[in-house]
Amino acid sequence: MSAECVFCKIARGEMGELLYEDDLSAAFADLNPQAPVHILVIPKVHAESLAHVEDEKLLGRLLAVANKLARERDLNGYRVVINTGKDGGQTVPHLHVHLLGGRTFGWPPG
Ligand code: AMP
Ligand code: ZN
Repeated sequence: MSAECVFCKIARGEMGELLYEDDLSAAFADLNPQAPVHILVIPKVHAESLAHVEDEKLLGRLLAVANKLARERDLNGYRVVINTGKDGGQTVPHLHVHLLGGRTFGWPPG
């Protein structure tokens, strides 16, 4: 884990509040929510982006957790987003899955 990475600190319980955690992942509310439900699901181990991870068990877990958290919230559909790299719009360099719900989303995304 990186000492300076904010999402590593959150995953370690040193900052903010976790909504969920297991052996591989943690989830918490986005600081600047873009929908009534906006949760970030991250790996506990530091990984810069989706492009830096090949562990299929870990990647599968992140999606399974997003699905579980969505199901618990009884959403009428939801969106999962993984911004990756500069052109992908990623601003925090620790892989995170956005779970967005509670409103209708447009397509294509901006
Ligand atoms: P992205 O643009 O995909 O890298 O998304 C980064 C997300 O992290 C944004 O939605 C931010 O609002 C969110 N964020 C940044 N810092 C924090 C923090 N300390 N706690 C919770 N969410 C954060
Ligand atoms: Zn990190």
